[in-house]
Amino acid sequence: MLPPPRLDYRSISENFVSKSTNAINRKAPITVEAIQSVSRLYNELKHHSNTLNAKRNSRSVIGEAIRKSALQKDQKAKNAAMEDAKKLKEEISELETLVSQTEQTLLETALAIPNDTHPSSPLGPESAAVILASHGPDPIPVTPTRDHVAIGKKLGWVDLENASSTTGSSWYYLTNEGALLEMALTNYALSVAIKHGFKPVTTPDVVRSDIARRCGFQPRDPSNAHVSQVYHLQNTSPAHSPELVLSATSEIPLAGLFANQLFLSSSLPMKVVGVGHAFRAEAGASGADTRGLYRVHQFTKVELFSVTTEDKSEGMMEEMRRVQTAILDGLRLPFRILDMPTEELGASAYRKYDMEVWMPGRGRWGEVSSLSNCTDFQARRLLIRYHPQTPKSSEGPTPTSTANKFAHTLNGTAAAVPRLIVALIENGIVLDESGEPVALELPSVLRPFWLGDDNLIRW
Ligand code: AMP
Repeated sequence: MLPPPRLDYRSISENFVSKSTNAINRKAPITVEAIQSVSRLYNELKHHSNTLNAKRNSRSVIGEAIRKSALQKDQKAKNAAMEDAKKLKEEISELETLVSQTEQTLLETALAIPNDTHPSSPLGPESAAVILASHGPDPIPVTPTRDHVAIGKKLGWVDLENASSTTGSSWYYLTNEGALLEMALTNYALSVAIKHGFKPVTTPDVVRSDIARRCGFQPRDPSNAHVSQVYHLQNTSPAHSPELVLSATSEIPLAGLFANQLFLSSSLPMKVVGVGHAFRAEAGASGADTRGLYRVHQFTKVELFSVTTEDKSEGMMEEMRRVQTAILDGLRLPFRILDMPTEELGASAYRKYDMEVWMPGRGRWGEVSSLSNCTDFQARRLLIRYHPQTPKSSEGPTPTSTANKFAHTLNGTAAAVPRLIVALIENGIVLDESGEPVALELPSVLRPFWLGDDNLIRW
């Protein structure tokens, strides 16, 4: 179990107004006034407890004097003094329990405060997103015959029916070329990330719910404990074992990889690329997005993750954006990059870019990747720190040094496989005159990773 998160209470109390405005702009389920009142209560209780402790200490000095004085012989006065001391001890103990409960409430309340927001992030809901750049070929006009669901079924690449009876709706089998596309996309995205200096990691798909929470994922909706966006595992081992959840993204196990560690600033940035499965309960999801492969409960995801210093995190965000752009450019898909507005930032992101690809069968742009600079939000919760200077001695930094700082973490999608399959099928399918699918045109960057024959594929 990790030590408790280290939040910056001073910054919260010194910036109540801007933190409140920020929480409102981000539609965060917290009012900073709530923290203010818990914090006031905590300070009062703490003050009271300190006063009583001081009283007890001074009484023990007096008690010492009494013992030596004539009063020692007065049994009645002695009993009264002992009774008093006992009462005070009980009062202090009750108060200390209350102080630690309030401290816990304060921590829980403060943990719900979202990260600060980059001054350039647009204000408002999803529709306020700003297009930063457009790439790739011109979008094909909306074409219902390019629908990936019908094509996937007809060509035997996607099997939703058997998945539905085996597991449920929004689960799928990828078969034949569909399965090969997953392998090729995963390895292609990995190869681009590795070329850009990211070290490969395969990640556990199961994580402690505590780690997920510290990354900013709320394993249970606090307003409704029966609704969760995360799958919880029924614990079969002894009662004291930790609560486990299926990972919603390999960002969580990748962040966990660096938890409770201290780095030298000269060893940063750390750049890793994880391959894992993402599990999403998608509670409440409905409508067109839940058709086919677009919004599913499990998907393979290649994820970029970086730990860096405070002064380098904005530069790292641009570097990771270049990796994502290189991946989509290579796939020859029409895509655009959006600066996401405050209501879309979740709890942890300071700034977020989404990339959307045109999907002509669906007749709309679809988000295929996301990039977030979480600054020190996750690092404070996971205790990922760095020592700003290289120490002169070979012994390295001491973890207790006050000069240590919290690192900045960033995460970005390199490939969220099923949505890329949707985009490749809907943009690349070759239709005959009657609108029937006859072949799939694939970008040549996938060719080195293609394990099948070329019967239905054109390069
Ligand atoms: P997120 O971790 O929520 O930012 O998602 C990262 C990427 O994963 C998104 O940009 C989508 O491409 C993809 N994605 C998210 N949720 C789903 C889902 N339920 N089904 C398929 N792909 C998803």
